Amino acid sequence: MARVAKIVGSRLLSDLHELASIGRSGAGVRRVAYSESDVAARRWIAQKFAAAGLTPQIDRVGNVFGRWPGAARALLIGSHTDTVPSGGWLDGSLGVIYALEVARAMAEAGAEQPIGIDVVDFADEEGTFAGWFGSRTFCGDFNTALWNDVRDSEGRTLTDALTVFADRPQVRLNKAHTIGYLEAHIEQGPRLEALNRSIGIVSSIVGIRTGRAHFTGRADHAGTTPMAMRKDAGQLLFAFVNRLIARFSEKATRDTVWNFGNVVLTPGAANVVPSEADLSIQYRDAELRQLELFDNIVQEEAQLINAAESGRCSITMTMATKPILMDQTFQSCLRDAAAIIGHASVDLPSGAGHDAAALALHIPIGMLFVPSKGGRSHTPDEDTDEKDIVAGAEVLLAAAQRLVHAKR
Ligand SMILES: [Zn+2]
Repeated sequence: MARVAKIVGSRLLSDLHELASIGRSGAGVRRVAYSESDVAARRWIAQKFAAAGLTPQIDRVGNVFGRWPGAARALLIGSHTDTVPSGGWLDGSLGVIYALEVARAMAEAGAEQPIGIDVVDFADEEGTFAGWFGSRTFCGDFNTALWNDVRDSEGRTLTDALTVFADRPQVRLNKAHTIGYLEAHIEQGPRLEALNRSIGIVSSIVGIRTGRAHFTGRADHAGTTPMAMRKDAGQLLFAFVNRLIARFSEKATRDTVWNFGNVVLTPGAANVVPSEADLSIQYRDAELRQLELFDNIVQEEAQLINAAESGRCSITMTMATKPILMDQTFQSCLRDAAAIIGHASVDLPSGAGHDAAALALHIPIGMLFVPSKGGRSHTPDEDTDEKDIVAGAEVLLAAAQRLVHAKR
C-alpha cells in the first residue's frame, strides 16, 4: 500500500549542513571544480544517492547521477555542488539535496510510478574551467578536443583535472529516457524577499551579451597639449559610457541590467593623455528584441565616434546567449504545486545562468527559486530562511509528482 510522499525537513537540513562541512572555509564553502573538496563532495553525494535506493554513478567528467531503478523513463532533477572560490553553502547544493530528498520521499512512499526520478549533481557549473561544463558535456555540447586547451586560473588543464575520473564512462543525455529537467536554486537576488514570497517560478533565463569597446587616440603631454588638439582615448571612453547609460536607461525594461565591469587606460599615468582605452560591457535581458536594441545602441554610438576625427572605437562581442524560455507544462505544475500547498509564488526571470539553460537546448525544463537573504550569493553570507528551504522542497516534490503524471 502506497503512502503519501513527504519531505522530511530535519533530514533535508541536516544533509545540507553535512554537505557544507565538506570544503568549509571560514563562514563559507570552497569547493572549486575538481579540487580535493569537490571530489570528496561528489563521492559523498554518490553514497547518499545509493542510500536513498537510487543507482549511483560518477561519470568521466565528475557528474554524479542517481538513477531510479528499473525506470524506462525518468524526470531528471538536480543542480551542482561545485562552488566559486569563496562561496556560500546553498548555491547549487540546495538543488542537489532537494533532488535527493524528493527522490527519497517518493521512493519511501512506495507508489508504482510509470516515470521514475533520476537525480544529478553536475560538475563545474561555476566555470572554474568552463561554465556549465558538466551539463554541456552531458548534452554533447562540449568538444573533448578542447580539454588540453581549457585551463583554470592556475594553469591546470581540464585533461589534468579529469585524471581522477579517467576510468569512468561518459554519461550522455538519452532523450528517449529523460522526459525533462527540473532545477531548484536560490534566487541569488533580492526580488522574492522584497515581495515577501517563498517561491519564485522562473519564467525564463536571461540572454547575456558580453563584449569590449576599444578606443584608440594619441599619447601626448597632459600639461602642454591644448584640450582641443588632443586625441584622448580615455575621454572618448567616458563619453561613450555616459551616452550608453543615458540611452540604456531610456530603453530599459524592469528586467534589463547592464554593467561596465572593467576599464583600462594606457599608458595609464596622470600626466600622459591616454592613447588606448579598453572597456568591458555586459547586458542581460529576458527578451531577445531588447538585447538586439542594446546591440544597435552600442554600434550606433561607436559609429558616431568613428565619424568624428577625435579617435577610433571598435566593438568586439565575445559572448551572446539567447534568452531561454521554461516549458509551459513545467511552469504550470510548479505554480499549481505552490498554490495547493499554500506558498505564495511569483513568476520571475533568472538573471543568472544555470545548468538548466544547457539542458533547455534538448529537453523541456522548469526552474524554481527560493529567496536569498538580502539577495546575497557567491559570498559566505549567502543564506535562506529554514522555513523557505523546506517550503521549496515541498513545492518541488509536489511539482515532480504532477509532472510524472502529466507526462505519462
Ligand atoms: Zn548555482
